[in-house]
Amino acid sequence: MSLTGKDIYKKVLPKTNCGDCGIPSCFTFATTVVANKVPLKKCPHLDPETAAHYQKELDEQHSQEGSYVRKDTAKEALAWAQKRSASMDIKDLPERLGGELKDIDGTPVLELPYFNDTILIKPDSITKKDGSALNVWEQVFIYNHMAQGGSSVPKKQWISLQDIPNSTPKVQSMRTAVEEPLIKHFKGQQDQLLKAALKIGGQRIKETDASADLALLFQPLPRIPVVLLFWDELAEEGFDAQVKLLFDETIPEHLDIESILFLSERIAELLCEAT
Ligand code: SF4
Repeated sequence: MSLTGKDIYKKVLPKTNCGDCGIPSCFTFATTVVANKVPLKKCPHLDPETAAHYQKELDEQHSQEGSYVRKDTAKEALAWAQKRSASMDIKDLPERLGGELKDIDGTPVLELPYFNDTILIKPDSITKKDGSALNVWEQVFIYNHMAQGGSSVPKKQWISLQDIPNSTPKVQSMRTAVEEPLIKHFKGQQDQLLKAALKIGGQRIKETDASADLALLFQPLPRIPVVLLFWDELAEEGFDAQVKLLFDETIPEHLDIESILFLSERIAELLCEAT
C-alpha cells in the first residue's frame, strides 16, 4: 500500500506547524513530500532513524509510480492520475474538495463547481454537468486534485510558484506558457482582460497588491483560488506589461506542481479565448 500525505503526517511528523521547513503546516509538508518528492530531512525535527526508514519507503514508491509530465501522452497521464486516485471514496470527497454529494440512480456523485461551470465526479468518469466531456488534461488535473489528499480551506495567504518546494524547474514554463501569452494578448488592453476574467467567473479584487493595475480572483475549484496580478505597460518609461499568478499557501495540499502549472495554463487559455 502506497504511503499518502496523511500517512506521513500521522506517522512521521511532529505536527507542531513550526514552519522551519519553509512550509507553514506539517500536513502541507507531508503532501509535498509524497507528491513533489521533497526530502523528509527538510523537516529538521525528525528522528534520523525514522526519517531514513520512511524516506527509503518513499524512494521505492516514487521509483515505481513515476510521475506525470506534460510530455507524456494524454492517455498515459490519464491512466497514471486515475491509478493515483483509485482508492478515493467519492463519499469522502466533499469534506476535502468542497462541492455537494448527490445520489444519482443509487450511485454517489460529487457535484463540484469548476470555473463558472459544474462538473460531476462519478466512480468511473468525470464530465461536465450537461454530460459533455472535459479535455483529457483537465481530467488528469482533477484526478490529481482528488489524489493529493489535502482538506484545508484556503487561508488567503498568497504565494507564488517559486515559494513552493521543488518548483524551480517549472518557473520558466510558467513564464513561457502562462505569463508571456497573457502579456502578449492583453498588453495595453486592461479593460479586455477584466472583461475576459468576468466571463470565466473571475472577479476584480483590490486588497491583494495595491501596486498592480488589476487584481483578479478566480475560483477554478472550491479549495483552489488563484489571483492574477496585471501591470500594464508604460511605453514612455520603457516598462513592459507584467503578469503574476498567486496561489493560496494551502495549494500544495491540493495539487502537485505539474497540475498547478496545468491549471495556470488553462486560466491563460480561457482568458485569451474569452476575448
Ligand atoms: S519543520 Fe517539521 S515540524 Fe515544522 S512545520 Fe515543517 S514538517 Fe512540521
